Amino acid sequence: METTLRGLGVSQGVAIGEVRHMGTVVLEPPAQQVVAEEAGPEQERARQAVAAVAADLMARGELAGSEAKAVLEAQAMMAQDPELIADVERRIAGGSSAARAVYDAFAAYRELLAAAGEYLAGRVADLDDVRDRIVAQLLGVVMPSIPDSDEPYVLVARDLAPADTALLDPSLVLGFVTEEGGPTSHTAILARALGVPAVVALPDAVGLAEGTVVAVDGGNGEIFVNPSDETRARLEASAAERKAAAAASTGPGATADGHRMPLLANVGGPADVAAALEAGAEGVGLFRTEFLFLDDSKNAPSEEKQAEAYRQVLEAFSECRIVVRVLDAGADKPLDFLTPAHEPNPALGVRGLRSLLDHPEILRTQLTALARAAEGLPVGLDVMAPMVADRADAKAFADACREVGLPAKLGAMVEIPSAALRARSILQEVEFLSLGTNDLAQYTFAADRQVGAVSRLQDPWQPALLDLVAMAAEAARAEGRSCGVCGEAAADPLLACVLTGLGVTSLSMGAASIPYVRATLAKYSLAQCEEAAAAARAADSAARARSAARAVLSAE
Ligand code: PEP
Ligand code: MG
Repeated sequence: METTLRGLGVSQGVAIGEVRHMGTVVLEPPAQQVVAEEAGPEQERARQAVAAVAADLMARGELAGSEAKAVLEAQAMMAQDPELIADVERRIAGGSSAARAVYDAFAAYRELLAAAGEYLAGRVADLDDVRDRIVAQLLGVVMPSIPDSDEPYVLVARDLAPADTALLDPSLVLGFVTEEGGPTSHTAILARALGVPAVVALPDAVGLAEGTVVAVDGGNGEIFVNPSDETRARLEASAAERKAAAAASTGPGATADGHRMPLLANVGGPADVAAALEAGAEGVGLFRTEFLFLDDSKNAPSEEKQAEAYRQVLEAFSECRIVVRVLDAGADKPLDFLTPAHEPNPALGVRGLRSLLDHPEILRTQLTALARAAEGLPVGLDVMAPMVADRADAKAFADACREVGLPAKLGAMVEIPSAALRARSILQEVEFLSLGTNDLAQYTFAADRQVGAVSRLQDPWQPALLDLVAMAAEAARAEGRSCGVCGEAAADPLLACVLTGLGVTSLSMGAASIPYVRATLAKYSLAQCEEAAAAARAADSAARARSAARAVLSAE
């Protein structure tokens, strides 16, 4: 009998196949005692296990490249934290086995993070993953990992660690379903980068029996368990139709009646350039520069290193618009040399532009590196600041850019509701706006973007979020300025039409989504997009907003 479950669709596409679970979680090692003379060899075993896991994570990072690489390298650094290793050795000297010492030392580290107010779901999940890897290595058991199967399958897990998603083989993994995670979690962003359909925040996903056939609709978050022949045929036909339409769509983004909507790519560094060009991106709408900084959380990269990485991206998109975002550290992307260690609430603390204004030398080096990278290139360089709260923030950023003579158009991200509410005043200082809908949702709904339990509020179809988008777009229009969207909302083809109807002027997304957005946008006129936008805003829940827009656009 077919049953339907509902989670949050975070990566477009349809996957039909058998459920395969990640291996079971590493068990708690027994509290076994070691005699004093074995402490030395046991400590050596622990050091070797840590080194092996760190090397494995680095190697996975190399294989995966791009954004995943930075996440995996950060995990490798966690594994090698000298204080953590010292604690493990102390515990072994006190009589613990290596596996137990690692387990307990990580538990203490977790508590330390919690006490310091850094109990961030994302970091803790990464920390647990590192712990499980080291314990598994010491116990000689297989680390929970992607199932060993030659047949394609739908991967089901409580949550997927970056180390796992990074190596998903899209030819074997048809899609994935997780119990945790939200639409803007790292996992969701990586899934989209891989082009694998994904549904997150599905209650009791791990209860799906191994081998059950499911049909996953990564667009609307539906999971059909034991799908009927009719359901399969319907989903397969619509997926095939969408794929064919996406493959056939080329050229610049526009509505059916020719209203231009530049479709730009979100990139994390030079490694993402090829996919962006392949997808026909008309430029870069968000270059997340922090991935360059996450390589080494203790020091900022030199001006030369930065200039070289920026230049590679700028060269690839010469003649195009490239929007570079200056370093957005803090909260889910902490950096030791920038982020305060003892904030009670890091997402509401010193992050984004606030960190840079506290460390003007880091901002100056980055801006100088950008100016150097752009020298002699025919690019339309735009540089924007993350987490701008008000006009004073925008002015401080613009002053810093002018000080180094940066040859760029300056902009502000709208990620804090205050910036949407007072967009016109911010536009007195900078020339364009870019809506970061991931953080804008987080701050509008007071819902941590990394916590699965509040993911309902992270849904970009929430009408309150659409109201703020409309408000910022209208302010930009009144000031004769542009206002794009670079948050994940832009990657949803139907929502992209609604955003167009709300008056935004460009859409930037992961490369894999560009063909789908282009094809869907080309089906409707601007008036239809406006009608869908009005219908969505008139609704009083995300689900109703989506259905109302779909009823107008009669799209998938
Ligand atoms: C956003 O917040 O929407 C955004 C684009 O920035 P990031 O996801 O990198 O925080
Ligand atoms: Mg953001």
